This record gives sequence, C-alpha cells and structure tokens, in this order.
Amino acid sequence: MKCPNCNHDNKDKAKICKKCGREMSLPPAWFPDAKWHLKTLGIIYVCVTAFYYTVTFLLKQLPKPYDIRKIPIEVTPWLRKGPKYLEEDQLTPPPESSPAPAASPMPSPPSPSHP
Ligand SMILES: [Zn+2]
Repeated sequence: MKCPNCNHDNKDKAKICKKCGREMSLPPAWFPDAKWHLKTLGIIYVCVTAFYYTVTFLLKQLPKPYDIRKIPIEVTPWLRKGPKYLEEDQLTPPPESSPAPAASPMPSPPSPSHP
C-alpha cells in the first residue's frame, strides 16, 4: 500500500506511513497549483470589477448634487474656512454685511503648562 503523501511503499495493514508518519486512511493532501491561483484570482478580479461598476451605476442614479464626486462650494460653505484645500476660483470673499473676524488658518498651539 502506497502512502498518499510520500508514495512510500508500506505494509498493507499499516495505519501510519513508515517514512513520513502520515495516516494512511487520510485522503491525499491538496496543494493549490498555478491553475487554481489563476482561476481564484480571476474570480476575485471579476467580482471586484463588477462591484465597482455596480457602485458607479448606483451613484449615478442619485439626484444632484450627490451624483458628482467633486462637491460644489455652495453645498459645503463651511469648507470656505479652509482655503488650503480649495481652488482659487472656488474662493469667494465673505459678504460685506457680516464682517468675519480675521481667522488665522492655524490655531495657536496651547501653551505647555509645567508644574
Ligand atoms: Zn508517507
């Protein structure tokens, strides 16, 4: 009786392989080969691609302005405080009626308190 793991010829009544110590009754071990990897990775790639296009399609079904990726400044006026991330044409000065205090872009760090 040949060992399913190492192909060593053992006695017919042997329960454990003499060479590798594996149980003779167990089915042979399975190792993924290149074909299995290609198939599995292909399935994952197809699923990810289908998920991407499904989400893109569903996002396009949303009403404006939620269907666009770049949100206009009118929708998020609070972002005007941070000119760091805005483009020049999106920046508009605050209305004259309500003069805003000169906000520093970076708050002053808290003074360290030593005992
Ligand atoms: Zn063996």
